[in-house]
Amino acid sequence: MSLTNRILIAMVAGILLGSLLNFLLHSAGVPAVVRDALDGYLVGGLFDVVGRIFVASLKLLIVPLVLVSLICGSSSLGDSSRMGPIAVKTLGFYLATTAVAVSVALLFAVFIGPGNNVALGVDTNFQASVAPPLVDVLVDIFPSNPVRAMADGKMLQIIVFALLFGYAISRAGEPGRRIASFFRDMETVVMKMVEVLMELAPYGVFALLAKLFSTMGIGAILDLAAYFFTVLAVLLFHALVIYSLMLKGFSGLSPRILLSKMRPVWVFAFSTASSGATLPVTLRTVERRMGVHNSVAGFTVPLGATINMDGTAIMQGVATVFIAQVYGIDLSMTAFITVILTATLASVGTAAVPGVGLITLALVLEQAGLPVEGIALIIGVDRLLDMVRTAVNVTGDATVSVIVAKSENQFDEQVFLSSRANHDEVLSDEGMLP
Ligand code: ASP
Repeated sequence: MSLTNRILIAMVAGILLGSLLNFLLHSAGVPAVVRDALDGYLVGGLFDVVGRIFVASLKLLIVPLVLVSLICGSSSLGDSSRMGPIAVKTLGFYLATTAVAVSVALLFAVFIGPGNNVALGVDTNFQASVAPPLVDVLVDIFPSNPVRAMADGKMLQIIVFALLFGYAISRAGEPGRRIASFFRDMETVVMKMVEVLMELAPYGVFALLAKLFSTMGIGAILDLAAYFFTVLAVLLFHALVIYSLMLKGFSGLSPRILLSKMRPVWVFAFSTASSGATLPVTLRTVERRMGVHNSVAGFTVPLGATINMDGTAIMQGVATVFIAQVYGIDLSMTAFITVILTATLASVGTAAVPGVGLITLALVLEQAGLPVEGIALIIGVDRLLDMVRTAVNVTGDATVSVIVAKSENQFDEQVFLSSRANHDEVLSDEGMLP
């Protein structure tokens, strides 16, 4: 059976088994010793260990992958003088789509009013973490020590360093060409590592989802149903409607094809709730199944995974309005504009790992003059929303990459259109996983 199918089956099996375990763990009919054993050895033992190893092995790839693919991308673009326009276009699209995402979220939330009938009886023992000032976020993009940036996994700093390094390679004549060919070889090797580790994916996805669904009370969703389903509706609207319109409008390509090729990427995003951990799969899919040339994909995809978080911004938009409604605070027009601006910038500063969107929400609430403790209201359903919004985040990265590549003629339409690329025999022939 193909890897893609095995991962899909693992996902469904993990959700089903997790839900069953959740039921058993909370059922009085099951003896306490059995419940303790299931909880201790299976959920907190096996699933936890396998899930953590899987996420660690994906994370292990992030720094080498971002560094190497960005250096390759920017070194091959550097001499074509297209680097500047591509960078400007990509950044412009990333920021604009995020601003649109928050605006749509605000509109939906104001219209639906998810917080209008919610009483404030929720536990407010929550200690909000202090959000860093925006200026610090900005200054922090520039590394003073690239080695430390890599050791700490500071993605924006690594991106700045890699871009500069790649650009310098393209200007350095013969020595530059030698170094570039070294990094291209490195890229092949790192991609091989991705393939090897992908073999772990079915087990990892299964363990992550089984653990999550066995510990997550579905009751939390019912309490916050209005908020939960508003966020979900905007996420789906953005992923299916806004991105489709964008793709059709800017590149004339079929959104259906793009969405169907995103499937394996969604599974990873959904089960890891991390655009960073999903990056290897996003990059390979965008390059090999959607036909974006390596020089553009190597730049746009890692950058997008780090700074483009439309799904996160959507959650923040809805959450802001929800919290304002619960606390009975009227939001002025200025507050709305502030939310759009700060959520767009916060998306740049949100690390591509689970749950960080909730931390940067503190920054948005603070700027809008809302009580940061309000985060306690929505924390119960955040993980599940995080999984879906991460899938939206990575869809945005892929869509923008395709649009930019098409506009720069760095795009192979045959690959994009080819349904052969959907056939796993072809994929595995080419060593393409999943
Ligand atoms: N988990 C999200 C991501 O990695 C970030 C967030 O919204 O917390 O894309």
